[in-house]
Amino acid sequence: MKKLYQARDRIEAQLLKDFLASHHISTVVQGDYLSGAAGELPALMFPVIWVLDERDVSRGRELIAAFNRRKPEGAGWRCRDCGESNEGQFDLCWHCGSCRE
Ligand SMILES: [Zn+2]
Repeated sequence: MKKLYQARDRIEAQLLKDFLASHHISTVVQGDYLSGAAGELPALMFPVIWVLDERDVSRGRELIAAFNRRKPEGAGWRCRDCGESNEGQFDLCWHCGSCRE
């Protein structure tokens, strides 16, 4: 397993876990259960998303970046590299991973 992302809270962690699962990236969320433990560092209170397959790390980070930047009201766009249609809330092409221009 490889650490992918530290979420702000458990809700964000769950949203990202579901989002990544929809892109066929398997993750587990760990860490938030430590929040009640005495003597733990504050950083451990935040849930951490771990990716099961290390080959998914770079793709997972791109997806999370796109997830955090998405604008729900955006119009759809077409990728200039591969020609695929993408939904407006994504800044990366779902097909080839190119950035929206
Ligand atoms: Zn593309």
